[in-house]
Amino acid sequence: MRKSYTATTGGHKARKRFGQNFLIDTKIIDRIIATIAPKAEDDLLEIGPGQGAMTLPLLEKLNQLHVIEIDRDLIGLLESFDKDNLIVHQGDAMKFDLSTLPTPIRVVGNLPYNISSPILFHLLENRSLVQDMTFMLQKEVVERMVAKHGNKIYGRLSVMMQAFFEVELIFIVPPESFEPAPKVDSAIVYLKPLTQSLVGDVTVFKKVVKAAFAQRRKTLRNCLKSLLTQEQTSIDLSQRAEMLSVADFIKLTQDYEKQH
Ligand code: SAM
Repeated sequence: MRKSYTATTGGHKARKRFGQNFLIDTKIIDRIIATIAPKAEDDLLEIGPGQGAMTLPLLEKLNQLHVIEIDRDLIGLLESFDKDNLIVHQGDAMKFDLSTLPTPIRVVGNLPYNISSPILFHLLENRSLVQDMTFMLQKEVVERMVAKHGNKIYGRLSVMMQAFFEVELIFIVPPESFEPAPKVDSAIVYLKPLTQSLVGDVTVFKKVVKAAFAQRRKTLRNCLKSLLTQEQTSIDLSQRAEMLSVADFIKLTQDYEKQH
């Protein structure tokens, strides 16, 4: 068996391959719970409850809480809490069918960093079922999510998130708040689906944004040459992708769609 253990916390050996960094700082946990501000009747899903650092304080406030955890070894621990209002699902959050839960649902979690982007994209696809989301992620990822055009860290993740969500960095969390401690800072991010996103087809939008950022140092004319020409859009294609606002990307996609 592959060795993936890095540290022992509360009898459980933290597994690197599941991105396990358990929260141990109660002040930080309190601040996260205050940010979520759960109301008893809220429908909530926690992704990756781990050993329950956030789960137990959430359970104190909620009539019911759903959790989805991939590590079978932690399922027994979660079930041993013996809480009637805790509904434990075992499986992969990236494949979890949100429509099986009461919706719109509030989603929270200290996400496994190695797969935070695919989880965010899975939730983006399912945003009509989501009320809001509060996540712990690597600070660098959150900074990219909230970055504005013209900034060198503005990229695909910034455009995809901001086209569909209001995105806000809430606060920074230092490595020593976890066991084992990660190498980098983390941050809490709040996402709320926009009531009216102007994007028509998500798949087409994704394709245009991906192509635009495929070679950041090249002009859009170059990056998008297989998709559309300058004659087909009012967006200036002599720019680089990082200069385009989210609204510009939406316009660009609409112009592309007119040709197809
Ligand atoms: N919430 C706990 C805490 O704050 O201490 C644990 C956070 S730890 C960073 C991430 C958790 O997500 C782990 O419990 C891990 O086993 C779980 N996990 C990893 N990949 C997952 C996946 N694909 N689906 C569901 N849970 C996953």
